[in-house]
Amino acid sequence: MATFNPHFKKIPKGYFTAEVFKRTKAFLDSHPGTELHKLGVGNTTEPLAPSVIAGLRRGVEKLASAETYSGYGDEQGDARLRKAISEWYGKRGIDIDATEVFVSDGAKSDCANIASIFRARSVIAIADPVYPVYRDSNILTGNRIVYMPVIEKNGFAATPPKEKVDIIFLCSPNNPTGAIATRRELKEFVAYAKKYKAVIVFDAAYSEYISDAKLPKSIYEIEGAESCAIEIQSFSKSAGFTGVRLGWSIVPMALRCENSARGELNQHWNRRQTTMFNGASNIAQEGGLSILSQIGQKETHAQIAYYMKNAEIIRKGLEAVGMTVFGGIHAPYLWVKCPKGLSSWEFFDTLLEKAHVITIPGSGFGKNGEGYMRLSACDHRENIEKAVRSIRDTITL
Ligand code: PLP
Repeated sequence: MATFNPHFKKIPKGYFTAEVFKRTKAFLDSHPGTELHKLGVGNTTEPLAPSVIAGLRRGVEKLASAETYSGYGDEQGDARLRKAISEWYGKRGIDIDATEVFVSDGAKSDCANIASIFRARSVIAIADPVYPVYRDSNILTGNRIVYMPVIEKNGFAATPPKEKVDIIFLCSPNNPTGAIATRRELKEFVAYAKKYKAVIVFDAAYSEYISDAKLPKSIYEIEGAESCAIEIQSFSKSAGFTGVRLGWSIVPMALRCENSARGELNQHWNRRQTTMFNGASNIAQEGGLSILSQIGQKETHAQIAYYMKNAEIIRKGLEAVGMTVFGGIHAPYLWVKCPKGLSSWEFFDTLLEKAHVITIPGSGFGKNGEGYMRLSACDHRENIEKAVRSIRDTITL
């Protein structure tokens, strides 16, 4: 007799954006024809950079001839891309071997699957609020969650848990708060991980939005992190690959946990991927190679600057009406405090009904997100300007 996984009862019925879509639809049904402005879901909107399009075309062209056609590739990723990723780290002074790079179809699946190389019923520390995938995927596998509250009083910085945990998920720059972990904060986590033989899973999906060279873009900038940290990366927000799908994980040979020998966790992730994943798209990987080329880096960083200009426009516009805004400096997310003690959903409704602006309630990212909203800077400039103007014209505090 089959019985369903009982842990499904412990997570919300829908992904947290479902209620946003439901309320938006209800509003549109009762106000047909209203133009809505999206400052919500962090989806990319700008066309891919020319060099990246050229890379994707190259990938397609290769499939058009018997001489260059390829079918299944290595589950770990195209050797050229693994090498390019290792060199990308090398240029930042970080020594990653290509055998430590595992190309994926994006960061979300790796974030959700990585805990499978550790024993069941592990204790997992995650920030609250944070990208909900860490919480839900770990609850579904029966792991126990310990929350690290990130709140306004401490600048939305996470600190290591008081109790001993097995795995710590860190996300910097953080979705949703836009906060970034400093070198000192990351050193504390590395020290904690070493003390308790815990493993850090560092989600660096927004690293390319960091504009201050003194701030760490990779956990491996911290001395000793290679022995206690896995890093997960994505081409989604750094190069507009949200729909193309490509990312990677670094599982260092030096990584150790309580009972593993050198290289064993790398081997386990390799085994997991070769068993459950058939490799990223060969076309996408050609695009990835172009993103990492000199011209690709220049063009994709210009796109990031475009989104960050949007973030500045949002910040200034909201501050002009008296709102308190965090984030939006090293991440495409702004974390806005709800005025007058409104709850996240109350302010969501106000912004929708009065300003016709769609946002994401902070409470969807965890208990400590209550009383905040997440706004995304990823949209066309004219839409961002319209949304900000609409808020300015309709919301008075
Ligand atoms: N990690 C974080 C923190 C994110 O915010 C997102 C997407 O919004 C992802 C991972 C997912 O990235 P990908 O599109 O590569 O799956």
